[in-house]
Amino acid sequence: MRTRRAPAPGTCGGSAYRDPLTGPNRGTTSVPARPARAYQDRTLAAMRHGSIPGTHGRVRPLILLGDPLLRTACEDVTEFGPELAELVEDMFATMYAAEGVGLAANQIGVGLRVFVYDCPDDDDVRHVGHVVNPRLVEADGVVLRGPEGCLSLPGLEAGTERYDHAVVEGRALTGEPVTVHGTGWFARCLQHECDHLDGGVYADRLTGWRRRRHLRQVARASWSG
Ligand SMILES: [Zn+2]
Repeated sequence: MRTRRAPAPGTCGGSAYRDPLTGPNRGTTSVPARPARAYQDRTLAAMRHGSIPGTHGRVRPLILLGDPLLRTACEDVTEFGPELAELVEDMFATMYAAEGVGLAANQIGVGLRVFVYDCPDDDDVRHVGHVVNPRLVEADGVVLRGPEGCLSLPGLEAGTERYDHAVVEGRALTGEPVTVHGTGWFARCLQHECDHLDGGVYADRLTGWRRRRHLRQVARASWSG
């Protein structure tokens, strides 16, 4: 999933972007054009020190909407070995290079059920991790429509409805069971990445005029075939 930007006029459900590391922006003119920059700089510094994943990964080309790989449901991982660790490392490197907050394996052309994330929630708590063979076991709470973008649909976003709370169960690289709880923006990220692994994208959830407008924007996008 793409880094959050300030909501476009006319969208609802989103709040002004708050930098997850430096606190909320105050005033009405302080929302930066590239709100993720401070976050990104801090992330790159941490990568150089090897304290977060992705340091040794290879940035792989992103699969964009229109490629059948993005529309194919992924398969469960059965081998928890060094190749899986390398995949996760490459996914982190690719996500950071693209300034995303989440990435699913099929977005780099690998049809396995794996996603990675480095995403703040609405309380500015940073969540970093990966899930292998994730299952969305809970998605509930209020439904919020907020601006959502995707690294596989570069330059686009649309007000998309998501539950405010989500729980994902799966496994770590080691095969150990993991449970990830998310609220707010992070819950949105978890639902977005689970959709990817089933061959979906956020645009599938749009209805009415939002869907029609988004389809026109996709058709006009430079990357759209
Ligand atoms: Zn996405």
